[in-house]
Amino acid sequence: MEEYQSIWDKVVGEMKLSISEQSFEMTLSTPKQAYKRENKVYVSVANEHERFMLDKFYFQDISKTLDEISGESLELKFVTPDYIEKQQQKYSLVEADPNIHNYYRGNLNATYTFERYVAGKSNRLAYMLALQVADRPAEVANPFYIFGGVGLGKTHLMQAVGNQMLDNNPNTKLLYCTSEKFVDDYRIATMKKNFDDFKKKYREVDVLLIDDIQFLAKKEQTQEEFFNTFNDLYNDNKQIIITSDRPASDLKDMMDRLTSRFEWGMQADIQTPDIQTRMDIMRRKLSGENISPSDFPEEVLEFIATKFHSNVRTLEGALKRLIFYATINNSEFTIELANDALRQLIKEEKHSSKIDVKNIIKETAAHYGISTLDIISKKRKKEIALARQVAMYLMRELTEASYPKIGDSFGGRDHSTAMHSCKKIEKQMKADMALETTVKTLKKLFI
Ligand code: ADP
Ligand code: MG
Repeated sequence: MEEYQSIWDKVVGEMKLSISEQSFEMTLSTPKQAYKRENKVYVSVANEHERFMLDKFYFQDISKTLDEISGESLELKFVTPDYIEKQQQKYSLVEADPNIHNYYRGNLNATYTFERYVAGKSNRLAYMLALQVADRPAEVANPFYIFGGVGLGKTHLMQAVGNQMLDNNPNTKLLYCTSEKFVDDYRIATMKKNFDDFKKKYREVDVLLIDDIQFLAKKEQTQEEFFNTFNDLYNDNKQIIITSDRPASDLKDMMDRLTSRFEWGMQADIQTPDIQTRMDIMRRKLSGENISPSDFPEEVLEFIATKFHSNVRTLEGALKRLIFYATINNSEFTIELANDALRQLIKEEKHSSKIDVKNIIKETAAHYGISTLDIISKKRKKEIALARQVAMYLMRELTEASYPKIGDSFGGRDHSTAMHSCKKIEKQMKADMALETTVKTLKKLFI
């Protein structure tokens, strides 16, 4: 790595003119060292907070200024000083060891990096912890447990940690796998009655990333094996990272011994992103596609961000589709075009996001003037029980959910309770006009 100070100082000078004095004080005023290797520029920051602020608020402006001043297309990275030190050592001393089995590094998606991950209100804690875990494995959060809904960036964030660790040290033995893969490998080992390979693969790692742990539910044997793997790694001070669709304490059909271990380290959730973050995600994506912000009107960004709010994957899909559509039609990005290109997707999004379980629960609770916590609680007060039964009935009518799934959504009740509730409301509606009207009114909210 070579020093890259003079250009960087010019970038800082330029930024000082374009942002407020206060913002400058908080981010760029402390002296920073800059280095360059190939097309990457590394700039050291004083602390994580500074890095967070820079990444979140100024990354694009600084990147652009850097490219302008240097006349090159560079990849900018804010890093801690010890990262730079490690990089220097790495390139002077460490060569990747060819003897490390390639399942330890072959399966990360190289585009799932911190640079491409947009931090915001909805994922701040998870993001901050992830940065820390990447730089200090097994020190800050072990296990590191990330949970949240579908398409909100769990896999990306988990793999960003992995990619960063391999960047820090290419000889890290890192294994990423879904819990389904773990189940599968274990099944094969059981069939062969030979666990040597299995143990070698999963226990001789420095870092284990297990994605979507909820799929271990009901697989007692595999859970037992995972429990042993976990203990082995944990006792050896190896980093374990887990993702899940829910908090550890809410995992169903999972051994308590296991779920309580998941709570030993740190848990962080990822929520659906607010509109600002959704727009930032699209901006980051656009810059990746080399589309300049001036070609993509703010109002079009906002249009997409308001239509797609529940899932980042869908949001990205919509943006991609619009870009494709504009290219083949050789057209500018306008709201009309977006409307045209995305009509079908918008319809699907509306449908899927309105009729979601949470929404049914929320609206029904609101109608009866009780809280969502009450409606899923065990409380038996008449009014609460009625609201609960109505919500269950609506779920049955409006979604694909099975009785076990419905029971599950209401604080882990069993399927017979769900079935009984649905039947009861169905019957009662025939005799009770007021109830019938209520159900109809609620239904209209969703279709
Ligand atoms: P999950 O594992 O939670 O279902 P993924 O990690 O697969 O979600 O993310 C879905 C898509 O959305 C991926 O393409 C990912 O890169 C993108 N994505 C999610 N969150 C963010 C974010 N905060 N910044 C940038 N891209 C994101
Ligand atoms: Mg995932």
